[in-house]
Amino acid sequence: MTVLDSFRLDGKVAVVTGGNRGLGRAFARALGEAGATIAIVARDAAASSAVVEELTAAGVRAAAFRADVADRGSVVAVAREIAADLGRADVLVNNAGACIHRPALEVTEDEWDEVMRVNVNGVWHGCQVFGEQMIGAGGGVIVNIGSMSGQIVNRPQWQPAYNASKAAVHHLTKSLAAEWAPHGVRVNAVAPGYVRTDMTPIDQPQFKRHWVDDAPLQRAAEPEEIAPAVVFLASPASSFMTGSVLVVDGGYTVF
Ligand code: NDP
Repeated sequence: MTVLDSFRLDGKVAVVTGGNRGLGRAFARALGEAGATIAIVARDAAASSAVVEELTAAGVRAAAFRADVADRGSVVAVAREIAADLGRADVLVNNAGACIHRPALEVTEDEWDEVMRVNVNGVWHGCQVFGEQMIGAGGGVIVNIGSMSGQIVNRPQWQPAYNASKAAVHHLTKSLAAEWAPHGVRVNAVAPGYVRTDMTPIDQPQFKRHWVDDAPLQRAAEPEEIAPAVVFLASPASSFMTGSVLVVDGGYTVF
């Protein structure tokens, strides 16, 4: 086996939450190119179908499933559907996320809850529900999408709930990695810096001073630049890694 063979995912089923746009869409494409069958899990069925069409046209076996990761029952149901349609999940990428920019004293209870329900509870539901399947089958791989915001405080926009939620994702990753290593389940996280997606309006001029000028590489990433890190963590190429948070941020957090 060559080193590049160790990045292959042939015969594996990979679930990508929030796989219908932004980073998740790039993760789905990359995992599919590495050989995995892809299950897209999100709420907007039309957007998910469009991504499945793209993947199919690229020769990737893929299907779309509708679920709200914030709702545990919805995740339980979708895990059953995926197992019935595609087979048991070998890889789970907990990517679905939400961010609200608001100074702390103006954050409403609903906004706090919305961010925590998607970013923390959603990742928890995915890990617990698919993790149980993986433990039952003797192994699996989970990649949680955290953020450099779990380690630093972004500027100039304040986003206290998001930052706290991503710190929680990183520490949940370590907690489950420790607990599930004896079961053959590896759990790692990726912490991206600024990436051009709907969530991150990188081209708005008020953000350039902090988001771009402060970064060593002097630019944001495209989603496709984060995807290889996900393939690495999802594949046997990272067989000795668990409980790690892999920062992919163009150097942003060095300062
Ligand atoms: P987008 O806003 O572009 O996409 C978010 C995705 O999550 C959509 O596919 C959406 O699908 C899905 N989603 C949101 N809420 C739910 C829910 N309740 N149930 C199921 N799916 C849901 O975000 P990005 O692509 O930018 O971000 C993806 C991940 O990367 C997030 O976890 C984010 O925090 C993280 N990240 C992003 C960075 C960036 O700069 N863009 C930087 C660091 C981390 P639908 O609406 O159809 O449900």
